[in-house]
Amino acid sequence: MAVTDHVDLNGFIEGVKRRNPGQPEFVQAVTEVAEDIFDFIQDKEAYHKAQILRRIAEPDRVISFRVCWQDDKGDIRVQRAWRVQNNNAIGPYKGGIRFHPSVTESVLKFLAFEQTFKNALTGLPMGGGKGGSNFNPKGKSDGEVMRFCQSLMTELYRYVGADVDVPAGDIGVGAREIGYMFGQYKRITNEFTGVLTGKGLEYGGSLIRTEATGYGATYFLQNMLKTQGKDIAGHTVVISGSGNVATHAAEKCTQLGGKVVTLSDSEGFVYDPDGFTQEKIDWVKDLKNKRRGRISEYAKEFKGAEFHVGKTPWGVPCQLALPCATQNELLGDDARTLVGNGCIGVSEGANMPTNLEGVHVFKDAQILYAPGKAANAGGVAVSGLEMSQNSARISWKEEELQRLLIDIMAGIHSSCLEYGGRPGSKIPDYVKGANIAGFKKVADAMLAFGVV
Ligand code: NDP
Repeated sequence: MAVTDHVDLNGFIEGVKRRNPGQPEFVQAVTEVAEDIFDFIQDKEAYHKAQILRRIAEPDRVISFRVCWQDDKGDIRVQRAWRVQNNNAIGPYKGGIRFHPSVTESVLKFLAFEQTFKNALTGLPMGGGKGGSNFNPKGKSDGEVMRFCQSLMTELYRYVGADVDVPAGDIGVGAREIGYMFGQYKRITNEFTGVLTGKGLEYGGSLIRTEATGYGATYFLQNMLKTQGKDIAGHTVVISGSGNVATHAAEKCTQLGGKVVTLSDSEGFVYDPDGFTQEKIDWVKDLKNKRRGRISEYAKEFKGAEFHVGKTPWGVPCQLALPCATQNELLGDDARTLVGNGCIGVSEGANMPTNLEGVHVFKDAQILYAPGKAANAGGVAVSGLEMSQNSARISWKEEELQRLLIDIMAGIHSSCLEYGGRPGSKIPDYVKGANIAGFKKVADAMLAFGVV
């Protein structure tokens, strides 16, 4: 057979599986995108000839390295870390760093692949990358986290840079960890550049970066509802997670008049029938960021709230849902339960929280369903704005950044509509729209470069 990607979808997926054994998350992410792209490129010879889809689904490089550090007892600990640089066709690699025991090369490859499309959708010049380690920051002292971050950056600094690859935070990596990593980068290189985003405001960070992902996912939900003449106000909202994305999604939904009734972590979910007020959300932020506690403590603090151990919140009746914890946290049955309970809108704050079966349930039910690569792009968009501010050595005002975030989310929504039309239906296919719009931008840049 000639060396082209003129194989059918199944043949292509089989090839991806064969080349990436033991990497189910990566295969899942590629499958979800390929299902839409195959149709789109069917009659576009240039993409086939240049093997564009095959090339995007093969990271530019995967860097794997050892990270040694010393714990408070003086014991030596050994961790594995990676940086996956997926594609830099439209800008420097850009994507977060995750610290969680579940981190594997497969997880980071799926995240870097998704990031490539997401970053293209923002309209900003950023390629796709992702990094992380199986280090578990839970229960570690500040000193232990600092020594780990310093050791990680002592290796990672060779591969990143303001015009090369600009990491940010993700699960387990917030302001504290970014500070330690930035400090070590600066110390080694003697350069003060925007090599990381999500930095503290005192040393080059951008206003609203912390809020941007959760707020952006809520704005995307609002944009989708508007197409049907509906709004967030007056609706019951179920949210998973209780970290950065979840708490800020809860905050914005509440501000817009929604009634948020759940938050969760890996041990279970809290249900508050009275709804989360700003005061309660601030309490959760403090619990997570300062006291580093568990969401179960919420039920002890607030009367009427219940903690459901070992469960996800998808069984709680709602009209709107925002999965904001982690990948594959919403399965086919959960999607059926949500639809059965009358859910009309799902906006993914997390990356790939819905498994492939769940995606098909939402698509078939024709509810308003926004995939993470579109809905949670607000975070990386403001990271892109942080890069611009760092390059120009200026800081923009909060109102300006709020406006830009709203505009960027509206722009992503429009791009999804452009390619996500469903014949005979009022409800667009946002998954298809996001996949094609993101793909097209990266693919056209790759075509311009020839075979590289
Ligand atoms: P945080 O570390 O701040 O919070 C993560 C939350 O998810 C915690 O409540 C955590 O609970 C829960 N969680 C993590 N892993 C699991 C698991 N295996 N099962 C159940 N719950 C879990 O991370 P973020 O809020 O930053 O990230 C959440 C999601 O949003 C991720 O998918 C991330 O990739 C995505 N995202 C984040 C962006 C950002 O700007 N931060 C940008 C775009 C996407 P516990 O404490 O028990 O682990």
